[in-house]
Amino acid sequence: MRIEHIDIGEISLPLAHPFKTALRTVEHVNDIVVRVRGENGLEGYGEAPATAVITGETKGSIACAVRDFIAPAITGMDLMDLDAVMDKLQRSMVHNTSAKAAVDMALLDLWGKTLNAPLWRLLGGAKREFETDITISVNGVDEMVRDSLEAVDRGFSILKVKVGKDPAADVERLAAIRQAVGPSVALRVDANQGWTPREAVRIISAMEDAAVGAELVEQPVPATDFDGMKYVTSRVNTPILADESVFSPADAARVITEHAADYINIKLMKTGGIWPALRLGAMAESFGVQCMIGCMLESQISVAAAAHLAAARGVITMADLDGPSLCACEPFPGGPEFRGPVIAMTESPGIGVRVPADCWA
Ligand code: MG
Repeated sequence: MRIEHIDIGEISLPLAHPFKTALRTVEHVNDIVVRVRGENGLEGYGEAPATAVITGETKGSIACAVRDFIAPAITGMDLMDLDAVMDKLQRSMVHNTSAKAAVDMALLDLWGKTLNAPLWRLLGGAKREFETDITISVNGVDEMVRDSLEAVDRGFSILKVKVGKDPAADVERLAAIRQAVGPSVALRVDANQGWTPREAVRIISAMEDAAVGAELVEQPVPATDFDGMKYVTSRVNTPILADESVFSPADAARVITEHAADYINIKLMKTGGIWPALRLGAMAESFGVQCMIGCMLESQISVAAAAHLAAARGVITMADLDGPSLCACEPFPGGPEFRGPVIAMTESPGIGVRVPADCWA
């Protein structure tokens, strides 16, 4: 089944509230979408956000990578020879992992539709539904407490609390949130590279003393400070999760073998798509290291792709797929159902999300 045509479009969706981390503030999901058409007349869809502060990619660079490098490399290939197509896609250029991810998921969407089977089953079918956390943006303490209570009201029992912008006040924020939501809500703390290694040890130790009860702390130190993360992991009791430090299976191998972190956050925009993420997950599983599935600020198209991966593989025990919950508008029809904290897989073939016709130029 020949890959006949690949083209790109654009979507722009408002967020219900501005998304704030130690690295940035964002008010819209404004992403490139990819459409792959097969000779059987079926189409697969993908999406990539321009997360320049993490992957170095912009909307322009993603569009250019897909149009001028990736599409020419794989158009005309037989999609049923999937290993060869994915290999060619990854080798079409270096870096540009989000552009690759958008095409990877569109190919797998089309592959599943061609086989008339849901992608999560084709890739392993580990679980039919699972729970995601929801992000609490970094703000003043009162606002963060209010947002946390509102999320708990909406049914979320796992909060991903963003910190790291103002290290002096981070323990106070977390203690106030714990006090407000009570002991049964899980708190995941994400510093988004906001602390130095010594600061991280001091703050996490203070969190432990203040009985914040964090399930984990994500990416305490800058992405490139591998030794710093190892320093933190060896000095605190709270498990450390590597996010921005791990893009490729090779990065994961280093983190695992040197025990620089306890868990790994897989994001399709860092790995270059589902195909490389499967390899990363298999390796983590062989070492008994659990993974989280995360996303950037993405709409339901690429978050659905990540949900298929999470549902397929048992090693992914934590989900941070709140993109669709943060948007102020109705989701696109089809694909996994996002019901508050629960993501429920369906039997629709491929990834299953239908992208409106007006997204395509
Ligand atoms: Mg993170």
